[in-house]
Formats: sequence, C-alpha cells, structure tokens
Amino acid sequence: MSGTAQLNDELLHAKSPFELRVHLGRGVPDSDVRSALATGDMGFLHSFTTGSTVDGPGVRVVAWTTGCQFRCLYCHNPDTWNMSNGIPITLGKATEELHKYRTGLKVMAGGFTLSGGEPLMQDRFAVRLLTAVHAMGIHTALDTNGSLGARLTDAELGEIDLVLLDIKNWDEQRHRRLTGMEVGPVLDFARRLAKLKRPMWVRYVFVPGWSDDARNISQLARFAASLGNVERVDVLPFHQMGRFKWKELKLSYALDDVQPPARETIEHACALFRAEGLKAY
Ligand code: SF4
Repeated sequence: MSGTAQLNDELLHAKSPFELRVHLGRGVPDSDVRSALATGDMGFLHSFTTGSTVDGPGVRVVAWTTGCQFRCLYCHNPDTWNMSNGIPITLGKATEELHKYRTGLKVMAGGFTLSGGEPLMQDRFAVRLLTAVHAMGIHTALDTNGSLGARLTDAELGEIDLVLLDIKNWDEQRHRRLTGMEVGPVLDFARRLAKLKRPMWVRYVFVPGWSDDARNISQLARFAASLGNVERVDVLPFHQMGRFKWKELKLSYALDDVQPPARETIEHACALFRAEGLKAY
C-alpha cells in the first residue's frame, strides 16, 4: 500500500486516547483511501490501548479509529474527527496485533473494543476486523454513535457480541445542538438491535447545562428500558481532559467554563435510569 507509514509499536500503541495525534495518514493517496474504505483492506487508527476497564466487560484492548461525522461539543478526541490524522494500518497487521492478546483476554474474561472517532465511518474495515477477532474466540464490542448502523447487515451484527451505543440526547433539538447531527438514525439503530436481540449497553455523557435535564433523561430511560436488550447504562461525567486538544487544533471550544458534574449529580441521573428497571452506573 503506497504511502503507508512505517509502523512500529511505539506509534501504534498509546498510553491513552488522550494523546494528541495528527497527520499520521497524510501521505496516503486519495485513491488508496477510497479503496481502503470500499474493501476494508486498510483502516486508519488513532492507536491501540490496553487495560481499559470501562469500554466493555472485563479488561479490554481498544482500537481507536479516526473519522467521525459528529461534532460533539464535549468531544475529548477531536483529533479523531479527521481520518487522515490516523495511522494507516492493513487489516492483516491490525489482526496480528490483536492476536498477541488473545490468551490474556480470554483468561481475564475481557475482550476487544473498536471505538473512535466513529468506527463505522470505516465500516468495511470495522466489520472485517471484528469478524477476524471474533473468530479467535475473543469477545467483541463496538462503541458507536449509531448513526451509520444501517451500513451493517444483520449477519455482520452477529459478529459483534456487544454494542456500546452512545446516545447523546433524547431531545432532537438538543441532540442537534450538542452533536451537529440528527438523533433519529441513532434511535432507529437501537430499535434494530433490539429486534435482533443483540446485547447493548447505552452510554450517556452527562454535561451540566447541556444534557442534564431530568425529564429528558427519564424519557431516554423509558425508551432504553422498552427495548429489552439494554444490559446496562453508563452515565459518563463530562470532564475537561480533552480541552487541550481543542486548543492545540485551534478549534473553538464552547465548554470552556463548564465544570465536571459532582458525583451526587451523576448518582441522581443513574437513579432516573434505575427507576425504569435498568442497571445504571
Ligand atoms: S461521536 Fe465521539 S468521536 Fe465523534 S464527535 Fe462525538 S464524542 Fe467525538
């Protein structure tokens, strides 16, 4: 693949997704990007991280993809928005990397999570990588904003043991203000996963002043409970760990003055989900 960066472990592995990474795939010709997207022979990754305990059950190896069509005001990884900021990696190399972890992940009842960015911006690569990892007997999870879920067939969804669906807001207008995109396709994907009885966790980022309305959260909780496939809800407190990336990338950051919520406030939000019979943390 012409223009593919020289890969080494240092480049491929990050201590955390909070490392700022830009232009790593800039040398890849457009024609290679187009063919990679069409076939999934190559993908673009911000990094691999190991040892996460918050991105699915057990200990996870996470591959962070680049490319995202959302523009969440609180995004802590805006360097993942642009696909060409990621490292170009062949499907074979990515699979080989994950193969190294297979025994450890099985022993620790952990697995592999594909996150981003939005992994389904590279849906062929995502599906082929998840399928290859699944074939190794490793638990697979997809962390997604859900809006491109229609790109996956029912059979392809069968290769994913768990979908972590990020629902940013129940209210259409607030969702648009917060992400720049519509919530409708996200909810359609949630309904489809429910119909297929595919296990799902809902992730909800709680941002004071933006996604903290109790009525709104209760409506989302009712919807999630009605689906029947939601195993748990993670209420994720807004934080400022990604602020420096907005500054470095010279992006205008609207949440400069927003303080992370207090633990009791998050507990209150969890209680709204629990009131509908869901497990919430
Ligand atoms: S969907 Fe995720 S990666 Fe995309 S803008 Fe929102 S928080 Fe950032």
